Amino acid sequence: MNKQELLACFHEAVADPRKLMDKYLAEGRKVVLTAPVYTPEEIIHSMGMVPMGVWGADVQINEAKKYFPAFICTIMQSIVELGIKGVYDGASAIVIPSLCDSLKVIGQNWKYAVKGIPFIAMTYPQNRKPAFGHTFTKAGYEYVIRGLEEATGLKFDDEKLAESIEVYNAHNAAMRALVPALAAHSEITCAQRSDIFKSAFFMRKEEHTALVNELLAVLEAEAPAEDKIRIMTSGILADAPGLLEILDDNGMQIVCDDVAAESRQYRTDAPAEGETALDRLASKFCAMDNCSVLYDVEKKRVDKIVSDAKAAKAKGVLVVLTKFCDPEEFDYPLIKRACAEAEIPCVLIEVDRQMVNYEQARTAIETFKDLL
Ligand code: SF4
Repeated sequence: MNKQELLACFHEAVADPRKLMDKYLAEGRKVVLTAPVYTPEEIIHSMGMVPMGVWGADVQINEAKKYFPAFICTIMQSIVELGIKGVYDGASAIVIPSLCDSLKVIGQNWKYAVKGIPFIAMTYPQNRKPAFGHTFTKAGYEYVIRGLEEATGLKFDDEKLAESIEVYNAHNAAMRALVPALAAHSEITCAQRSDIFKSAFFMRKEEHTALVNELLAVLEAEAPAEDKIRIMTSGILADAPGLLEILDDNGMQIVCDDVAAESRQYRTDAPAEGETALDRLASKFCAMDNCSVLYDVEKKRVDKIVSDAKAAKAKGVLVVLTKFCDPEEFDYPLIKRACAEAEIPCVLIEVDRQMVNYEQARTAIETFKDLL
């Protein structure tokens, strides 16, 4: 496929994930929903099922309001809204990790609000670095496995998990290679870049890796395009079409990111060594760092944002803050200060899944552009 055809494939997956889900169901596969931020997809994949990411959608929230207070992030609310409206019907289960206070409550609400799609909790430890963090994580994965076996009748096999780990590590490598490749090709818009990342949550990883590798080969064969305004993005999600359009209208190019739904997913591989494949998967989580939802008293994430921005020659950092996201709100003052010390302009815009008017964001981004 040529570049435009590949980009169209990614866009199609993002524009209609339900179509993909129906295709997988028609092929006789079971689909399991995976909520953000780090759900052990490899386990689901190894049991022959398709993990499909649910990060909500830009929708009007009505029904879910019965289950949540107004001041909870709309990613959570929109996941439940879509569940109530039947958008995920046909899924065999939903796995929700416990990595922030909002995520800790969504499962209980899901059980009452959405009938027919069982909720499986993945409880992660706060302290993941000591040996007990590994033991706790592994026990959490064993609980998920029991839940999946009960919900689907399929059986877990550690050898199959080892194979799935290879599939996921290969996907991580492709996604890591993508970031500098896109940084050299400014003709790929912010919206198209978002499609490539977002489609990874809906496609089987083998299929997505093949498409990304094909795109990398196409980009490699082409001469790099002239730079636009190089920026770094940071936040949980930065996929709102209204926001991406403003970035593209203002000639901006995302040359690296610290977005939970994008690069943060792919930084850490499961290691090659471990007593069992499940131990290797637990080690992967314990090795993860530099994320607002991963406990770190030293907040090394902040230094990483500055060093990544410098390495990618980003002229500024755009923090896309999901409203009512406590973990991100806690980190923002530190990010702002570290960027100021490094003389990297940093601007914050708040977004949520119900936003229809981006004029305030447009003004902030236009001012940011002038600053850069
Ligand atoms: S956006 Fe923030 S508050 Fe919402 S689920 Fe993600 S980490 Fe939690």
